[in-house]
Amino acid sequence: MTAQNADAASRKQRLEFNKLQKRLRRQVGSAIADYQMIEEGDRVMVCLSGGKDSYGMLDILLGLQKTAPVNFELVAVNMDQKQPGFPEHVLPQYLESVGVPYHIVEKDTYSIVKEVIPEGKTTCGLCSRLRRGTLYSFADEIGATKIALGHHRDDIIETLFLNMFYGGKLKAMPPKLLADNGRNMVIRPLAYCKEQDLADFAQARDFPIIPCNLCGSQENLQRQVIKQMLADWEKSHPGRMETIFTAIGNVAPSQLADRELFDFAGLQINSAPEPSDVQFINAVEV
Ligand code: SF4
Repeated sequence: MTAQNADAASRKQRLEFNKLQKRLRRQVGSAIADYQMIEEGDRVMVCLSGGKDSYGMLDILLGLQKTAPVNFELVAVNMDQKQPGFPEHVLPQYLESVGVPYHIVEKDTYSIVKEVIPEGKTTCGLCSRLRRGTLYSFADEIGATKIALGHHRDDIIETLFLNMFYGGKLKAMPPKLLADNGRNMVIRPLAYCKEQDLADFAQARDFPIIPCNLCGSQENLQRQVIKQMLADWEKSHPGRMETIFTAIGNVAPSQLADRELFDFAGLQINSAPEPSDVQFINAVEV
């Protein structure tokens, strides 16, 4: 490759990256505004797993913090679950380099999970529950008013189908959620972002990714099946993922069948005639 070609290629790469970064910032900004995720004076605890999505979330939030019309604090928190081979130095080194206040919460949930779950069964359910519980308590400890999780649009859609196919429920993962304890407000600023964009962003920014398989667990098989189904759909019908996501925010309870959500039993025929009916009756009588 000539020097001129190399120059043009790197310019193109920079342009692509700028476009991607702008898109992600715009999507995160819109999700925050649409769901009022962050308000003046919030202390946002940003949960970092060491995966591509949470690195991206922190990076984008740090960027938005500089230009946002409201003042808010960011505190990064990682949980060291004591999986064998967890590289303890990676996150502290990174967080110091970007200059964000952070905490590493150490709790050996790995041993609990290994003890409770029989060999060969998926451990992710219990592992995430234990992690969630610890993080919620820690948020109380540091006075965090919001807990930011790095789930993106594709996670939300996959959860919708997982619940539908394996749980018989029409529910996904909300962009904003009051936790069951009533004290913690969970937000998902990446709710509008595509997984592929976050993967590209992580690669371009060269985040020091820590794999989430140190525990030796296989990714949930049911989720893999759903992922593949959605990928096939998107390939044969481009844009389908976006349409499904739009549908999640565009629900018509009267067109479903949930009696808790809509009072089907109380439906009444409107006995007073509509003005157009009166005109029709008058016209017939004449
Ligand atoms: S892959 Fe391992 S660390 Fe990650 S959620 Fe599952 S059990 Fe926990």
